[in-house]
Amino acid sequence: MECQSCGACCAHFRVSFYWTEADDAPGGIVPVALTRQLNAHQRCMAGTSSRTPRCAALEGEVGQWVGCRIYAQRPSVCREVTPGDPQCLKARAALGLDAPPAQGTSPQDQ
Ligand code: SF4
Ligand code: SF4
Repeated sequence: MECQSCGACCAHFRVSFYWTEADDAPGGIVPVALTRQLNAHQRCMAGTSSRTPRCAALEGEVGQWVGCRIYAQRPSVCREVTPGDPQCLKARAALGLDAPPAQGTSPQDQ
């Protein structure tokens, strides 16, 4: 459960994905209202395309307690980050959470 006291990967990267993952496309599941158009082919999670990213679907306080409000509908990129992988460690280091997490479930991979 270490990731549920982290959330760094939801507050560091631009979380972008192919537009058809949004639910205004057939078969899409990500709530489109929580996304922003990046270009003709890509969307991102609202809040993640700024200098101080924080996904609009993230609840709680990073480094304390967090949860994903759209866990079952999160984009594919969120499912790919795993605790302790390079992306995870990069995000944690950027936010001052230097100690690698123990294996556990994540807002992105519960
Ligand atoms: S995958 Fe890593 S950066 Fe993301 S919530 Fe878990 S511990 Fe934090
Ligand atoms: S797991 Fe949820 S809160 Fe985190 S970036 Fe993805 S959609 Fe946002």
